[in-house]
Amino acid sequence: MDQSHLAANWADIQRRVADACRAAGRDPAEVNVLPVSKTFGVDVVREAMALGLTRFGENKVQEIRDKARALANAHLDWVMIGHLQTNKAKEVARYASEVQSLDRPELAAALDHRLQMEGRAIDVLVQVKTSTEDTKYGLPPAELPGFLDSLAGYGTLRVRGLMTLAIHTKVPEEIRACFRQLRELRDAAIGRGHHIPRLSMGMSGDFPIAIAEGATEVRIGTAIFGKRPYPDSYYWPEAPR
Ligand SMILES: *Cc1c(COP(=O)(O)O)cnc(C)c1O
Repeated sequence: MDQSHLAANWADIQRRVADACRAAGRDPAEVNVLPVSKTFGVDVVREAMALGLTRFGENKVQEIRDKARALANAHLDWVMIGHLQTNKAKEVARYASEVQSLDRPELAAALDHRLQMEGRAIDVLVQVKTSTEDTKYGLPPAELPGFLDSLAGYGTLRVRGLMTLAIHTKVPEEIRACFRQLRELRDAAIGRGHHIPRLSMGMSGDFPIAIAEGATEVRIGTAIFGKRPYPDSYYWPEAPR
């Protein structure tokens, strides 16, 4: 992708996010865009850095490691948003500044152990399964209260909010129901005393709905970087084939 194309896409998505905020009666300053650079190389990340971007979402640990090493002097923040195997906790603890796909007790324990060894603490979001598709990752909503309580015991994991992927459908009301459920789960948790204001929800195809339902962060790949060189199913197992 050439630089002018990336710059135009970035300006465009900021405008569309601001429009969606205004349509929802929200202040655009309340909603961050997380650029999702997965599958794109270091050259593209450098172009994005030239636009002032410093925080990137990835869904494979190996890509975070490789890009973080190649751009070690750039002080970028790498955000893990994809399904995370417990045996990858070590590299996440070393290279990521945030994990949004924390979805089970064993992973929390493994991350805490590795982060202690690295002497680091990171922000985490709990990924909740809000859709009924059975291939989707994420914690079942009924298990959220107990999981949040258990996370309070880990000094290395700063729990900041919740993340979800909506059901893959063209029916807006079904997508909206996923986002609404995440907001209600967050509000209930806040009511129980957890300080978890953030809601990471919405992607290129559905972010206006997510913003209307209270997203504080939208994860945008395609609309910024263009179509990915590999199909989603290659990098993202729950995508339709
Ligand atoms: C790839 C990905 C995104 C971005 O998807 P686009 O449709 O390209 O905007 C968001 N969230 C997760 C978890 C992803 O894997």
